[in-house]
Amino acid sequence: MSAVDAARQEFSSPLTERWEALKSLLQQESGDNNFRSWIMPITPKALSSGVLELAVPTRFMRDWVKTHYADRIQALWSQNFGALVRVDVTVSSVASPQRAIPVTLPAAANDTAVVADFSSPLDPRYTFDTFVVGASNALAAAAARKVAESDAALFNPLYIYGSVGLGKTHLLHATAAAVRLRKPQAVVAYMSAERFMYRFVQALRNKDTMSFKSFFRTADALLIDDIQFICGKESTQDEFLHAFNALIDHGKQVIVSADRPPHELDGTSDRLRSRLGMGLAVKVENTTPDLRVAILKSKTALLKRDVPLEVIDLLASRITSSVRELEGGLNRLIAHAELTGQPVSTAAALPLLQDLLRPNGRGATMDDIQKKTVEHYGLRIADMTSPRRTRAVARPRQVAMYLCKTLTEHSLPDIGRKFGGRDHTTVIHAVRTIEALIASDPVLARDVEALKREMTQVY
Ligand code: ADP
Ligand code: MG
Repeated sequence: MSAVDAARQEFSSPLTERWEALKSLLQQESGDNNFRSWIMPITPKALSSGVLELAVPTRFMRDWVKTHYADRIQALWSQNFGALVRVDVTVSSVASPQRAIPVTLPAAANDTAVVADFSSPLDPRYTFDTFVVGASNALAAAAARKVAESDAALFNPLYIYGSVGLGKTHLLHATAAAVRLRKPQAVVAYMSAERFMYRFVQALRNKDTMSFKSFFRTADALLIDDIQFICGKESTQDEFLHAFNALIDHGKQVIVSADRPPHELDGTSDRLRSRLGMGLAVKVENTTPDLRVAILKSKTALLKRDVPLEVIDLLASRITSSVRELEGGLNRLIAHAELTGQPVSTAAALPLLQDLLRPNGRGATMDDIQKKTVEHYGLRIADMTSPRRTRAVARPRQVAMYLCKTLTEHSLPDIGRKFGGRDHTTVIHAVRTIEALIASDPVLARDVEALKREMTQVY
């Protein structure tokens, strides 16, 4: 008997019964943590005219369930119990009192008690389990884990920085979630610096900064994402600094992320900057090709999708700037495959990923280009600089000049010099010739594309 059948027998009310069956399906696919945080607290309220109404205890749960689960619930329901037009999620005090984010605030026991939780919801997908560790992020991941597992504040603050899309938010969510799991009674405040500012200004406007301040000062752990956005706003900075100092003085853990190291936070007061630099600052470096492959493999496993290794290599070698874009590329290919019923393949991938694939060969040098070009055409390096003009040598030389122009930042005279002291007009001529040939000669076009691809791989 399947879980669904079992659940079917167990309940008498048809709506509750079907909801319980659906829950067991959702549990299987979302994992225990997410299930406990987001699905368990949902109560089915009504089903009429194809609209399923679900109730949750708080507003942010409503928003979360709407954006992350409503579509899936609708699809599963339609598959198992007949078509649904829509899933409505509402906030209801009758709903199960279990909350995703436990908050112990000395506030009145009405709806405002819920609103006084200033924390932003956590993305349930961002856990330590789903974070792939490699050389570039090992230090940050280890520090975050350590903080999540310790009772005493260790490095205070833990300051995680690095460029966009490298997993800082993921690590902060994972840390917050792990602390909440380990200490369900703890108040773990997570939000972005932007949100912090917005809520503070709102509180000022409503002449109600009390609950805002007390929330942050009574937190057991405070995580602020993208602290660089707090720059320049003095009153908010002061407020943040007060909360920050109070927490640190009481031995409460503070974790912040930023796109730059503490001393480069322009527009913040010296006091705040030096406070932020007091703990441990760890950098998340750019990903390595190995890590990108590992992340893609982990994502495809999580999504239970078959993606050929060739496609994974293509993505990992051509989308190198941020993991967000890497994921975006993968999701696009999967969505396309699903819509067309075609398997994911390199051939299908290239045109779909045009805007994401690295447009220029960051890291490609003129030496690389000359070397790869002569290898490709079976020539010698000397042929790149020699005065010989026979087609077999001249054409590859033009290809190499064209690649230097499109893949590097070198000027035309610079390129000319690299090719045996040729004039810049010769380089212009080469670029124009190759551009024209790419349009008219498919063999040459393929050669150029292959060389470009080879050149834009960064190792
Ligand atoms: P940042 O906050 O540094 O800009 P995010 O944490 O938002 O970056 O990461 C962007 C996306 O990439 C997220 O979906 C995140 O889950 C994913 N990601 C980044 N690094 C990793 C990693 N090491 N393992 C798994 N997923 C990652
Ligand atoms: Mg982020």
